[in-house]
Amino acid sequence: MTTHICPITETSLEEAKQILLRGGTVAFPTETVYGLGADARSDEAVRSIYAIKGRPSDNPLIVHVHKDYALNSLVFDDMPYAKKLRDAFLPGPLTLVYRSKGAVSKIVSCGLDTLAVRVPQHEGAQRFLRYVDLPVAAPSANRSKHISPVTAQHVYGDLAGSVPLILDGGACSGGIESTVCDVTGPYPVILREGLVTREQIERVAGRCDVYHSREGEQVRSPGMKYKHYAPHCRTVLFAPDELERAVSYFSDREKNGERVLALCEHAVLQNFPKGKALDLGKNGEEFAANLYVLLHEAEERCDELIAVEPAERGGVMAGVLNRLRKACGAKQ
Ligand code: AMP
Ligand code: MG
Repeated sequence: MTTHICPITETSLEEAKQILLRGGTVAFPTETVYGLGADARSDEAVRSIYAIKGRPSDNPLIVHVHKDYALNSLVFDDMPYAKKLRDAFLPGPLTLVYRSKGAVSKIVSCGLDTLAVRVPQHEGAQRFLRYVDLPVAAPSANRSKHISPVTAQHVYGDLAGSVPLILDGGACSGGIESTVCDVTGPYPVILREGLVTREQIERVAGRCDVYHSREGEQVRSPGMKYKHYAPHCRTVLFAPDELERAVSYFSDREKNGERVLALCEHAVLQNFPKGKALDLGKNGEEFAANLYVLLHEAEERCDELIAVEPAERGGVMAGVLNRLRKACGAKQ
């Protein structure tokens, strides 16, 4: 199969629609990462997403819709606070998990009785979703366990030959995946941390918990149990107070003739040799926006990436640290 990268135009949108209606897949941009979309109503189309990505079959997908799509055709929306969350954050990088009405393929939710729905803000994503006017099941457009794509070229690098069309909407601005929040209970519970923070949700809904699986318990957001987001190069991660150790580790490796790069926040960049440190930026939002771009760059340029956690905590840092730690080998 030949893979075409196309700007978002009437012609490419019509092509995208025809592909989806035939049960095929189309990659499209969102404000977080690129998605690999298929018609959520079709078992076969949804199955092909799992096959292309090599995604474990118990890791459910998020359904994407445009902002005027009739939500009540897909889910039961019985919690008053859910409307408040939609008014405050949608369209945007927040996925809400509702009780499903069973209107899409069961494979989307891997047999769970819930459905995760997202309304992305990205203009290209909205145009695409409005044009096709379907519920589009879409995980990130990368091979399972690799870093999520934030440019059309990243998608091409992972999926060329497996997907016929990549709609090119430029680089994603947010850079890490959406926050996934369960709205089936008396108060919202975050299942995956992301760009919309616990603090922001709490301010709107009055209360918000973050779910942590307990030993032996069935995981509520199955995707979170998998190692994710890892570059192909080796990685090592140091805590903010281990900077000195990171620097000497770096120079030991360099003396051995190894191709190493550091990844750290702007404030500590000068501790590493010029041109050998990737700059994550100055605050949580910048770290989130830069993380995947730099992980992609690292795997092109080095054998081992020596990362130092930024010191900032709270807000979007929960999502950033979760992704950075997973990229460096942590399971949770
Ligand atoms: P990805 O598509 O790779 O961004 O991953 C989607 C995330 O949403 C995973 O962490 C899934 O476990 C989570 N998710 C999707 N649908 C559901 C659902 N019905 N209930 C709980 N978590 C879900
Ligand atoms: Mg993913």
